[in-house]
Amino acid sequence: MIRTTSTVFLAALVSSASAADFEVKDEAQFKKMFPAGAKVERLATGMQFVEGPQWMPGGFLVFSDIPANELKRWDAKGGLQTFRKPSQNTNGNTLDREGRLLSAEHGGRRVSRTEKEGTQVTVADSFEGKKLSSPNDVVVKSDGTIWFTDPDYGLAGRPKETPGNFVYRFDPASKFLTPIAKDFDKPNGLCFSPDESRLYVADSGKPRHIRVFNIARDGAATGGDVFAAVDKGVPDGIRCDSKGRVWSSSGDGAQVFDPSGQLLVRILLPEAAANLAFGGPKGRTLYLTARKSLYAVETKAVQARRPKR
Ligand code: MG
Repeated sequence: MIRTTSTVFLAALVSSASAADFEVKDEAQFKKMFPAGAKVERLATGMQFVEGPQWMPGGFLVFSDIPANELKRWDAKGGLQTFRKPSQNTNGNTLDREGRLLSAEHGGRRVSRTEKEGTQVTVADSFEGKKLSSPNDVVVKSDGTIWFTDPDYGLAGRPKETPGNFVYRFDPASKFLTPIAKDFDKPNGLCFSPDESRLYVADSGKPRHIRVFNIARDGAATGGDVFAAVDKGVPDGIRCDSKGRVWSSSGDGAQVFDPSGQLLVRILLPEAAANLAFGGPKGRTLYLTARKSLYAVETKAVQARRPKR
């Protein structure tokens, strides 16, 4: 009798803890996105302002502590360690087709690439001879082109040189840097749909929404309509999963939208998240960087992979 009571009590405790981690808008979709009993876990804390998570081929997570001027690394075995310091106040991180780390540097005012042997080279640092402001986030398309945002959050009193806060496409073959959108307040996170026909770009400035562009095979961008608005805080980092859902960081944690822009679920965190990324041994763990802490939650989703060309 006592055993039954305690088992029931324990089950109730686990399920209420789990339910408190989410606000479910669509129960059927929620079950497709998260395993039963999925629970948000805090993996590390005590940092200053964390951003830019990226799962590495070596089986660990790299992310940025921007004000600490440090790239951190985390894995279940080694816990929290320093990956690189100083980091030129790196913000967003991603991998290129060769698995090399690309970083958007506030301090360096550039997008850099870390070569396999560890040296860093500049990918892009100026537009028409003017220094970029503070590249924020970066993604790579299957054709090798590098797409990034350049709001002015990280200027830290230094003069702004470019004429605006643009979204850019950089072609490593021609070295040509092309603005693809000039009408953002603060362009921030970006991600491609699984077939790369769509590019989503977050505006973390006044609009607090995510816009969607149609991308032609030659890289030309059209459209730019509002895809979804975030109602708590701002959309900062965003990721697309293999089913075309858009996962956005937000003031309450994260918000997940279906490809039509419908809100499916909120992942609730005690701190506002600035970015997120899938990783882990099976690629189904969602890592969230939120102010002073790193969080994770198991999902049934995986990040959209670049289509094979
Ligand atoms: Mg960002």
